[in-house]
Amino acid sequence: MTVAIIVHGGAKTIAEHKAKANTTGCLAAVKAGWTVLQQGGNAKDAVEAAIRVLEDDPTFNASIGATLDVEGHISLDAAMMESKSLQWGGVAVVNRVRHPISVARKILEEKPYLLVADSAERFAAEHGCEMCEPNKLISMEQRQEWEQEKQPQDRPATVGCVAMDIHGNLAAGTSTGGIAQQPPGRVGDTALVGAGLYANSHGACSTTGDGESIIPVVLAKTAVDLLVDDTSGANGSSSQHPEQAAQMAIDILHQQVPGEAGCILLDCQGRIGWAYNSQDMAVAYMTSDLDKPAVFTRKQEESRVGKAAS
Ligand code: ASP
Repeated sequence: MTVAIIVHGGAKTIAEHKAKANTTGCLAAVKAGWTVLQQGGNAKDAVEAAIRVLEDDPTFNASIGATLDVEGHISLDAAMMESKSLQWGGVAVVNRVRHPISVARKILEEKPYLLVADSAERFAAEHGCEMCEPNKLISMEQRQEWEQEKQPQDRPATVGCVAMDIHGNLAAGTSTGGIAQQPPGRVGDTALVGAGLYANSHGACSTTGDGESIIPVVLAKTAVDLLVDDTSGANGSSSQHPEQAAQMAIDILHQQVPGEAGCILLDCQGRIGWAYNSQDMAVAYMTSDLDKPAVFTRKQEESRVGKAAS
């Protein structure tokens, strides 16, 4: 059975001097998730392990390094979903939890809720999740960006991961600090099943980009649905390659709404796809067919960097 994992570090513009930090971070995340899968761990464990690495890295807009809202506070959202049970869990508008993805995972295991603000933090504390002071999650760079009241040059963006384990179960997870200068209490797509993530028996997807554009096209569910190509073959549906399905989903978004977005997509055969309409999107992946993980900051680099990272 194929096992596979793919992570993203957000649809955004990556300044040249930030490229290395983005690839290093994504590579570390994919390795963490891959180790879990290799040891026979399940897809949810792998997604959680990978996203925790990205949440620890101030290069990315999730937990440490989260962007600040208009009042100078952070507000974190995260969610996880798995394919076999269709169970999911999410948190939004939290700033006292160290790893929002782990809280979402715990909710998934209990009951499919999207818990927000105080009640999410209470759940986290009661379930032994690591708590922290909000200030500990604010990076120097994000504080400076906010003080200068400017949009970051390379907009920090959401992180996500999709994995398939040895049993063929798929999981998707996404974690974000939202968008820079957002109004307090704003919740984007990240914690919304169907928009920020989705997983079913056909595949799993994690998205990134402008939540206000991702939500109306239900981007993650749209991408997963496109894996099933109803138009081909006289006998009904056949499966479309995730590479094509991901691109079609981004094209649909692009045709219907303004804004930037990206998605990573894995099908039930462990095949990988990703697409975006931003300038860059850091992505790393590993499958049973590869010798070592591949990592990119741009798609056209695939032929060059696709020879895999050291
Ligand atoms: N999708 C996230 C949000 O709208 C932001 C991002 O992916 O950069 O909250």
